[in-house]
Amino acid sequence: VQFISGSPELSRTNLAGLLRLLHLNGPMRRAQLTRLTGLNRSTVGALVAELETLGVVEEGGFPAAAAVGRGRPSMIVRPRSEKVQVLAAEVMVGQASIALIGLSGTVIHRAHGRAADNTVHTMADLVADLVAELIARTSGRVYGLGISVPGVIRIADGNVRFAPNLGWHDQPFGELVSARLPGLVVRIRNDGDLGALAEYLRGAARGYDDVVFVAGETGVGSGVIVGGEPLLGAGGYAGELGHMSVREQGGRRCRCGAVGCWETEIGGECIAEALGLPADASHDEVVAVLRSKDGQPSQQLAQVAHYLGVGLASIVNLLNPGLIVLGGLLREIYPAVADAVRVSMLASALAAPAEQVTLSLPELGGDAVLLGAAEVIWQELLADPAATLAP
Ligand SMILES: [Zn+2]
Repeated sequence: VQFISGSPELSRTNLAGLLRLLHLNGPMRRAQLTRLTGLNRSTVGALVAELETLGVVEEGGFPAAAAVGRGRPSMIVRPRSEKVQVLAAEVMVGQASIALIGLSGTVIHRAHGRAADNTVHTMADLVADLVAELIARTSGRVYGLGISVPGVIRIADGNVRFAPNLGWHDQPFGELVSARLPGLVVRIRNDGDLGALAEYLRGAARGYDDVVFVAGETGVGSGVIVGGEPLLGAGGYAGELGHMSVREQGGRRCRCGAVGCWETEIGGECIAEALGLPADASHDEVVAVLRSKDGQPSQQLAQVAHYLGVGLASIVNLLNPGLIVLGGLLREIYPAVADAVRVSMLASALAAPAEQVTLSLPELGGDAVLLGAAEVIWQELLADPAATLAP
């Protein structure tokens, strides 16, 4: 966030920056805001007053301990999550979850529903029903709906080009949801991209500018942040790391049609089989078996670890990330096979970028994708709060 003092027309930029600081960090002292923005105290005071008028922050109530110190304690500025809210939905096979999320990322209400089938119309109906349910439960202003879909999404219009788990090919999901929810801004994004965004803004990757998020479930979802910005590519399709080719010879056929994609070697089916479970075992079944085992990982699990390292080496060489976050089932297996993964990664990665990478587990757990979907709407909304939040 850039703060510029002086010219009055820049106060909108400063207002947006200040609100974004509060949105991402939660309550802060006025003195902290002054220090972080580099603006003078009276400017910060005026901006906070403007945000109070917009109804999105409140000021006061410093803890008793602070009052004992020298001088006048600085007031605490709090984002008001009950006033301004966005919706976030996660579409999964046969079900959808939705949350109403307030300013500062607070989850206010949740709902979940099962779908009779996975067709695009049934899913659009389900999402619209869940939205109506949550809107009826809030008195706050609701600004938009961010939706996660496990697939390749054209971000311009929310067309789902390919979502193998759902059986979708070129489905106008964005249009179908928008038609059911007139007046609500709807944005559709890939689940891995949203997990990356959430961990970058609110989780394990805070403070890193170059981040890769890889989450293994049935497929492998992934997202990339480069220089603090999501890597989108020409059409928004960048970062499909699960379909990097890692084993052309002797590899399996992937659902994308190619042979030897990374997700066929480290995805849920492969992990389940490595643990002696059927390929379609659920996440919970896989986790239960993993937790019951100790000692040396099996040879099959060692092979998953090997290919995990092979793919990570390509990522390290290509993107030079400071942090790679391993989510989903990878989060579950990584602690048991960390050494093998590192050995395999270091065997193929260049020394210079490999020295700089840290492998980490996510911090946001099951809410990462929903928080990321909310953040897509927040970014639009908080870009110019004086305009978007005016009563
Ligand atoms: Zn593939």
